[in-house]
Amino acid sequence: MKTVEKLKKYLEEIKKNDQNGNKINAILELNPNINEEAKKIDEKIAKGNAGKLAGQIIVLKANINVEGMHISCGSKVLENYKAPYDATVVKKIKDEDGLILGLTNCDEFACGWSGETSAFGPTKNPVKIELVAGGSSSGSGAAVAANFCDMALGSDTGGSIRVPASHCGVVGVKPSYGFVSRYGLIDMCMSFDQIGPLTKNVQDAALLLSVIQGYDECDSISEKSKSINLKKVEEIPKKIIVGLLDFEISNKEIQKLINEKTKQFCKKYNWELKKISIPHLDLAIATYFPIVYTEFYSATRRLDGRRYGKKVEEACGPEVLRRILGGSEITKAEHQGRNYHLALQARELLKKEFENIFKEVDCIISPVVPRLPHKIGEKISSKEMFEYDALTSPMNIVGNCALSLPIGEINKIPVGMQIACDKFQDEKMLQIARSIEKLQIS
Ligand code: GLN
Repeated sequence: MKTVEKLKKYLEEIKKNDQNGNKINAILELNPNINEEAKKIDEKIAKGNAGKLAGQIIVLKANINVEGMHISCGSKVLENYKAPYDATVVKKIKDEDGLILGLTNCDEFACGWSGETSAFGPTKNPVKIELVAGGSSSGSGAAVAANFCDMALGSDTGGSIRVPASHCGVVGVKPSYGFVSRYGLIDMCMSFDQIGPLTKNVQDAALLLSVIQGYDECDSISEKSKSINLKKVEEIPKKIIVGLLDFEISNKEIQKLINEKTKQFCKKYNWELKKISIPHLDLAIATYFPIVYTEFYSATRRLDGRRYGKKVEEACGPEVLRRILGGSEITKAEHQGRNYHLALQARELLKKEFENIFKEVDCIISPVVPRLPHKIGEKISSKEMFEYDALTSPMNIVGNCALSLPIGEINKIPVGMQIACDKFQDEKMLQIARSIEKLQIS
């Protein structure tokens, strides 16, 4: 199908299901030049000189700069901010003839779990409209699931790509720290954030990641890495040692589903299955938040109302304000950085424990979210909210790669399996996920 025809279908879908009546609310802004850009891409395809992403229609979380578009970060603070330049990932997508359809809704400044903290209203879950889509890249997950686009990009600080992917039943990849340039990402917490794909299948995720990955001198933490070989991703690896994470979660049905599926694919492929535990995994949340609060507080200091939009404290919502106040408290001189330094120590401990585990196994399997999505507006306790990140945030703390693969349903609600591999083993992770995905399809 021609790009222009596919685009027409997607735009109709968006008009019908995103912007009318009981809307999903995944898309915040559409690219005003989309029709001319689609035509140009079709001309290139016809001439045979189009790039790797030609024909792919892509949406981006509204915290990734696209020149001329409103990068609001789901916040009133930046609602009038127009990006003056393209983020590196955007440049790379355009260079390979990917078509940028628009920007997606998200939790305000990526602070959230469910997609409900956006100043532009919650994103609804296309699978079941009364449920949350999962956050913070809620609109990216929902847009892919609702068939508004081919692919999406999100950002993941502690689970924000994997959580919506799990709740909406799509694939979501958090690449290794340093694998994808964050130049042009309005960061939430710079020592955790990574940009990554949300897609309909693992093949698409591998394709998009292969385009956006790579060293970028504009991002100081960017690292040189081997490019993803898409043919290799299709091969079923022969010898894999799978580590099934031994971790208590409150929803036993999710735990059972993950355990059963893991046994099934290990048996089918003759992969070795080991039960593993990570001794200090339960410290993850207590490690994650002091670091997030400190770095987020520091990042928001530029939002003082003089250069970009409004003063953050005056225009933000309660979750963002909580983090700013929390960050300003724990960084006070009188505390001498105690909480922050304790968190950094715990981070080192977790890094060592993961290093040891990855000497024994090729991948770690667990649920993505230990619970099913709640109803929009339903009050859930802070403890339950924090539970969202229990299994995803460790991967950001340590910096390895992890993805969410749709693995089944409970009461017709999708459940994601987390597959995590060691740092810069992103290709192997995709290969394992693709092998499992093939079993689901056949
Ligand atoms: N839920 C986590 C938080 O609120 C993760 C958010 C994210 O990954 N951006 O911090």
